[in-house]
Amino acid sequence: MNIILMGPPGAGKGTQASRLVNEYGLTQISTGDLFRKAINEQNQYGVIAKYFIQFGHLVPDDFTIQMVRDYLKDNTFENGFILDGFPRTIVQARELESIAKEFKFNIDAIVNLDIPQAKLIKRLSGRRTCKDCGSTFHVEFNPPKQEDICDKCGGELYQRSDESEEAVQVRLETYNRQTKPLIDYYTMKGTIININGDQPMEDVFKDIEKALEDK
Ligand code: ADP
Ligand code: AMP
Repeated sequence: MNIILMGPPGAGKGTQASRLVNEYGLTQISTGDLFRKAINEQNQYGVIAKYFIQFGHLVPDDFTIQMVRDYLKDNTFENGFILDGFPRTIVQARELESIAKEFKFNIDAIVNLDIPQAKLIKRLSGRRTCKDCGSTFHVEFNPPKQEDICDKCGGELYQRSDESEEAVQVRLETYNRQTKPLIDYYTMKGTIININGDQPMEDVFKDIEKALEDK
């Protein structure tokens, strides 16, 4: 099964994607993670992506699409994949449709995590990410057993550099302007599943599982 997981920054996409990976053996494809990896490796994508990410802007479409295209071409997904953070614009959504035709795969479900904007700032400012495996925690809502240490791999937890107050504000505005219209785009196609993301992580996951049962 191939899934698109949508929602504003901090909605819980990464959190739910990692549960879907554990339960169903799906592969998580997070464009944010791919960009952060590219930045660490200082490769061709990293140098350009860094410039846009640090200010909270989207990385340009052609560049992002090329990266996703390469990733889908170069990897196999035995049990399917979860696109986490892609597409984020209508242009990316249309391109994904043509990549799907070309590579002969279907998108089986589009899941949108719905949550009031006011809740996102607290989620984002409290998020801590593992330097080694990318797992995310929250200082209040999902604290690690040991402060600043990843429960999963023992790696060091850090706060992302695009989580400054200014960058978060720009990211939320960017979401409203460029990504939110995708909800209408997929609603008109009749393919979107809206999930209440403003509830405990376990309950969000139960609702996603229930919605995917019929797929
Ligand atoms: P996204 O990938 O959509 O940006 P994350 O999954 O990284 O969001 O979640 C953002 C922050 O909110 C993380 O610190 C995470 O631990 C926390 N979080 C995720 N889901 C919930 C939830 N249902 N309730 C409370 N906190 C949550
Ligand atoms: P995320 O980890 O999903 O919050 O993404 C972090 C940052 O990476 C975003 O603020 C964007 O700058 C960039 N990014 C991630 N995915 C995309 C995408 N699909 N299109 C453009 N930029 C993206």
